[in-house]
Amino acid sequence: SLDEIDRIPSLLPQWVESSRQYCINGKVASYIPELSKAPIEALGIHLIDAQGHSMSAGDSDLLFTMQSISKVFTLILALMDNGEDVVFDKVGMEPTGDNFNSMLKLELVQPGIPFNPLINAGAIAISSLIAGNSPIEKSERVLNFLRVLSNNRSLAYDMDVYRSESETANLNRSMAYFLKDNGVLDGQVEDVLDIYFRHCSISVTCADLAQMALVLALNGKSPETGETLIPRRYVQIAKTFMITCGMYNASGEFAIQVGLPAKSGVSGGILTMVPGRYGIGIVGPALNRKGNSIAGVALLETLSNEFDWSLF
Ligand code: GLN
Repeated sequence: SLDEIDRIPSLLPQWVESSRQYCINGKVASYIPELSKAPIEALGIHLIDAQGHSMSAGDSDLLFTMQSISKVFTLILALMDNGEDVVFDKVGMEPTGDNFNSMLKLELVQPGIPFNPLINAGAIAISSLIAGNSPIEKSERVLNFLRVLSNNRSLAYDMDVYRSESETANLNRSMAYFLKDNGVLDGQVEDVLDIYFRHCSISVTCADLAQMALVLALNGKSPETGETLIPRRYVQIAKTFMITCGMYNASGEFAIQVGLPAKSGVSGGILTMVPGRYGIGIVGPALNRKGNSIAGVALLETLSNEFDWSLF
């Protein structure tokens, strides 16, 4: 409602400051060494409505890497490149209940394909489905797609985070070789991993995430031109995965407390939306035990409760 739009700008700063207090109970991710440099007390939000009005508060100018948030968009690009049948031959549609980097069910549950495209194993499988004549061309297509969706032509990799992950990714590397042996990956394992590390290291602000989220909120239409950037069906698939798997193994709790499609990353980013109405980007590098931004989730609970945003 008009009333809501009018209230958000004056309320947002105080809600950011009251949510920020939770940061001290969280931890910044350090298994990718470069990520440990992020400011633990930071919290920022940017919100864009369907008419293009922007609102932001807190540390919304902080640059951070997309990490797992990028998995939503590689899934969409893989669907656009290959169609549903090919994609769902290689990844399933079910949440795991395990950590995002778990390999447990890969060996345990036949036919040995990742449970869904938003866990690491699933996203690595999706990386091998991106079209292109070379690994570099495939990565460029992903980056370019995100430049279009974010309406930001200067979106680029954080090469320090990219190198830091690539040098330390023993678990993802072992997972990828396991997938290769199961016949899930096309191409050379190291090439597929390179595509994955690159899209995880794309550097963004909350405004970039909000703009990408707004495209999903508008069922794939460009907020500026109304042009179809993503077929509606693929947005529907992506949003469904965001509800069931987007916040890792805290997705059920998040669906109850917030009730919006969302995707988080280990850098502390959260991309979420109010369908038809807002695209939202959040950053708060201090993570809770499930790996989600501790203050970011608190802020979203406040917003969703105040404005009755839950889809349920
Ligand atoms: N690049 C990260 C990894 O593979 C992404 C994980 C995440 O954001 N949860 O570990």
